Amino acid sequence: MPYIDPSSVIEKLEIMGAKKILLQLPDGLKPHVFQYFSKLSERFSVIVSSQPFYGACDIGNMEVYSGVDCIVQLGHSAIPNIGYPKPVIFEEYRYSPASLPEPELFEPIRERGFRRIGLLASVQYLDFLPGVREVLEKSGFATAIGNPDSRMRHPGQVLGCNFSAAHSISGEVDCFLIISTGRFHSIGVQLSTDLDTFLLDVNEMKLHSMSGEKERFLRSRYAVLSRARDAKKFCVVMDTKIGQKRTSLANLIAGKVKEMGGQAVMVSADDIRPSDFENMQCDAVVFTGCPRVPIDDWEKFSMPIMTPPEFLQIYGFKQQSGYVMDEIVTVD
Ligand code: SF4
Repeated sequence: MPYIDPSSVIEKLEIMGAKKILLQLPDGLKPHVFQYFSKLSERFSVIVSSQPFYGACDIGNMEVYSGVDCIVQLGHSAIPNIGYPKPVIFEEYRYSPASLPEPELFEPIRERGFRRIGLLASVQYLDFLPGVREVLEKSGFATAIGNPDSRMRHPGQVLGCNFSAAHSISGEVDCFLIISTGRFHSIGVQLSTDLDTFLLDVNEMKLHSMSGEKERFLRSRYAVLSRARDAKKFCVVMDTKIGQKRTSLANLIAGKVKEMGGQAVMVSADDIRPSDFENMQCDAVVFTGCPRVPIDDWEKFSMPIMTPPEFLQIYGFKQQSGYVMDEIVTVD
């Protein structure tokens, strides 16, 4: 297990004069907690949050963070356009595999006739991106790295809720290559740019084309959405997490439900539980928080759960030629 050096965080906390710290670690970094906690608690009073969280969009409950001077969140990159109510130190975790991929790995991209590749990565693999770029350019590909909007910090970065770095160069490239492990980001880029997208899975050091995955994804989504066509009673959920709160979007959706003669209940939630919606006996849920929730967790719900763009599409409020991924640019 690689060592995560807390010295730069300690230095920042000392400059800040912080005394009480809330430490947040995503599940993947929780094995580091004893080592990290003991270093930090030599100088500060530290409490570890056991709440699950998946991004810099979530700094936990106000009841917990109101009593500390600073939050230290490991693993994620700050979301610059969020006004955090407490000082937060985001300590990014970067990982690069020991060796670069062999040039032959990218031959399937050449065989498809693509020459210009847009490069993207999840934050933890951004340091691996220049090496991959060099391999590609030495093999005769042209590469480009796009700039994100104000929800992300780094060129080429991709989040499950924001593909802006891809949009910024989609007119200049033939396809995208994403360095990551999970498939959600790659399918998101493929669907939102309509360009072929390849995933370089760094765990397996394998290349996966997303074009087949896209079809499977769409079949699965439209099967869920078809069950919502006759829905009358909707729960419109506004997530209270600081980086997911889209109140005005939730209000807009509720207004549209009324326009179509349905009933909408506005629900505020931090952690949504399928049983709540079963008890409310709604026909469908529109979720305005993290776009991954309706997509990744739909099987946990007995009623269809959808994203705002899905709602707007299936009830005819927005004419669009294809499926639109939900992306978050700003929050309320
Ligand atoms: S909203 Fe979802 S995808 Fe976006 S940063 Fe938060 S957890 Fe990640």
